[in-house]
Formats: sequence, C-alpha cells, structure tokens
Amino acid sequence: MAKNTHQQLLRELPSVDQLLQTPMVTDMVANYGRELTTTALRQSLETTRTAILQGHSITPTPDLLLKAAVHWLEAFLTPTLQPVINATGVIIHTNLGRAPLSQAARQAIEAAARSYSALEYDVTAGERGSRSVHAAQLLQHITGAEAALVVNNNAAAVLLMLTTLCRGREVIISRGQLVEIGGGFRIPDVMAQSGAKLVEVGTTNRTHVHDYQRAINERTAAILVVHHSNYKIVGFTSEPSLADLATLAHTYDLPLLYDQGSGALLDVAPFGLEAEPTVLAGLQAGADMVAFSGDKLLGGPQAGILVGRADLVAQCRQQPLARAIRADKLCLAGLAATLTHYLTGQALVAIPVWRMIARPMGEIEADAQRWASELRQQGVLATTGDGRSTVGGGSLPGTDLPTKLVVIEQTDAAGLAARLRGGKVPVIGRIQDGRYLVDPRTVLPEQVDNLIHSLVNCSHHQG
Ligand SMILES: *Cc1c(COP(=O)(O)O)cnc(C)c1O
Repeated sequence: MAKNTHQQLLRELPSVDQLLQTPMVTDMVANYGRELTTTALRQSLETTRTAILQGHSITPTPDLLLKAAVHWLEAFLTPTLQPVINATGVIIHTNLGRAPLSQAARQAIEAAARSYSALEYDVTAGERGSRSVHAAQLLQHITGAEAALVVNNNAAAVLLMLTTLCRGREVIISRGQLVEIGGGFRIPDVMAQSGAKLVEVGTTNRTHVHDYQRAINERTAAILVVHHSNYKIVGFTSEPSLADLATLAHTYDLPLLYDQGSGALLDVAPFGLEAEPTVLAGLQAGADMVAFSGDKLLGGPQAGILVGRADLVAQCRQQPLARAIRADKLCLAGLAATLTHYLTGQALVAIPVWRMIARPMGEIEADAQRWASELRQQGVLATTGDGRSTVGGGSLPGTDLPTKLVVIEQTDAAGLAARLRGGKVPVIGRIQDGRYLVDPRTVLPEQVDNLIHSLVNCSHHQG
C-alpha cells in the first residue's frame, strides 16, 4: 500500500518545463538566469523524488519545489572563500589567509580594481612604463636596498633568484637549513626546479664558516641562507652569522642570497617575542639579495619580494620566468599602501598583524572579561583564563605572546566547535582539555558582535 502512495506522489511531481511555466519562477529566472534556474529545479525535483522513494510522505507542490530550488541556489552561490572569525590566537594563520589588510590597503585595492590605472604607463612621459616601479621605490626607501622586485609569492621569488643567478651551477647551503615550509615548499625541491645544484655542508645542528669555505670551487654560484622560519634547532647548535658568511662570499666574489621568509621590517623583540631577523638586518649584514613574503609579518597582500644589489635585481627582472610569476595590480596597490604605513611610522597602529602583536595585555584582558560576562548574561558558561597567542605563518618558531582567553565550558566542546564552524560567519577557535577557547587577540573589532552572537547561539543549540 505504501508503495502505491509513493507511486502516486511520484506521479504528482511536475516536470521541469511545468515548473518553468509557473508565475513564481519569473523572479528566479530574473535573479539567477534561466540556465541556473533550470539546474536548480532539476536538483529540487531529484531530491524530492529521492525523499519520496525513501518513504517520506511529501506533497510535491510547486511552491515546495521552488522553495527547495531557491535554497539550493543560495547554497550553491554562497562563496566558498568566505570570511571567517579567527579566534585561534594564531596571528598569521596560513589556512585562514595570512595577514588581514589595513584599511588603506583595502581602499587602494578597491581603487585599482575599479578603474584603469597607471600600471605600466608613465603618466609624465606619456609612454609605456614599468609595473615594477610601484612598490619598488617604497621598498628601496624602507630597506635601503639599491633595487627591489615584486612577484607572486616568496616561493616564486626564491625560485626566480636561484634560476637567474645559479642555474647550472652550485649553491652552498647548510644541512640545517634544508627546510620544508608549510604547504610543501621544500628548499631542495625549489633548488632542483631552478636548475641549481645543491651543495649541502655541515650537519643538521652545526655548520661552520669553514664548512662553506671548503665547498667553494669554480662552479659555485652563490651561498644561500634560509631562515628557520617554522622550526627551531635547540641544544648543541651553531650556525655562522650572516655577516660572517657575507665576508666569506665576498672574498670569493660570490653573492650571499638570503631567504628571510617572514618579511619582518620591524623588530618584534619590544613586544616580548624572541628576536626575528629583519629584512633590514639581512641587508646590513651584507646579504646581496633578500627574499621574503608580502603576507606574513610585512602584513600586506600575497607577494614575493626581492631586494638587494641593483645588478642582481635587474638580472632577475629580465629573466623570462619573472613574467610568469609577476605580481598583479591589486597586489601592487595593496602592497604599496601597506609599505606606506612603515614609511610614515604608522605600521603598529594601521597594519592589523602588527596591531595584534603590539596589543597591550590590559586591552586583551578587558575584551576577554567583557565578552565572558556578556556570554554569562546570556546563559553561556564562560570564564577567562591565561593562554598564549602565536605569530604563526612560518615565523618566530618556539616563541609566543601571553594572552587572556575566553573559556567556554561545554560537555561537548567538539560539537560546539563544529556548530561554530557551520555558522554564517564561521568561527575558528581552539579546544584544550575539553574546553573551547577564544583568543581575543586575533578577533577583528568589527567581528566581535558576530562572534558573541554565534557563541551564544551555538552554545544553546546542542545538536
Ligand atoms: C613562508 C616562506 C617561504 C614561502 O613563502 P610564500 O610566500 O608562502 O610562497 C619561503 N621561505 C621561507 C623562509 C618562508 O618563511
């Protein structure tokens, strides 16, 4: 008997064409186009048919089918690259898009996107210009380097540097620096891709200047130093300083190449973090070329930056590979605006990652207390507790910042975390010892209301 009912319900299902004739579809077609609307209607009919076959007694009215179709359309068209709330306390979170941009950088990107721009046009001369001038002059000013070049990301910058300056020849590197950065960036692989031959010297924990010196021969193209960006070797360790390696390299008329990685232009030590070598320090120590990312500690858009000797940068710029990995106008606009903050002394207030690093403990604590009390007022079991924030993003390994957390007691912290991730603006937090933790340090001011709202909602609806 049940089967007969199913058959009957299935027979009642209208066709796609019938649905397309209904007056209510007009709006859908206007909003989403005929093709996508048709797809959505098919999807809706299919889902309903399956539900009926599974024994659900649904009366497949056109109204119901259209509602389901609109639902499908909305879900399908929701951008997957959506904003999230970073409550992890990891400031440069590679999986969450690294550095959020300053307001000026966002505005510069919007302006470059909106209209034509002088991307490769010299407005004074009225002739073709070069895209590499835009951020380069600012970079030269900030770092004191003779020249600068911006490409797509730092992996590309290192590849370009090695391809241009070392292809078919040898590059000397310490065994302790044959690193893998997150996301599969492995120095030996990049080296192989560039056509340069890797010459490993020293041991994992100790390498001396004489190890490098012994490896130098007529095939040597450069000495490469790679910053330990995401790991730390502790204990019985030693590595020559950049300055010592620069002296050695220059004695043999070789360039010293330095993959600095993070793009730190300011010293982090005043904020209680272990010193991270800055780009400036690399150049001052004698590196002939320094490579770094735009979206780590520099705090700008994704980019790879080479600064250093004018002749070396010029060679890199002229390499055909440079064209394949060039930076786009949006990146250059955002990068230039971000760099301006350093020039005007505004980096600590204007650039979000630096604001987060420099944020006084008192402010974080006040936030944590205010949020916890708001949550308690709304019936959520919330307290505050001590914790640590990290800089992340392959910088400053083994060093972190004290912070104050909002601690949420829930019997099922994993369930709460899943509901928070499933919200309209997903919240990404941490779980420790069965408690859900929110670090105010990495929550952007404009996301606070949303965060509290989600925490209340998701804590109350268990399941
Ligand atoms: C992050 C990093 C890279 C890779 O940079 P991307 O911008 O992610 O391509 C390379 N080298 C070092 C030392 C790094 O820290």
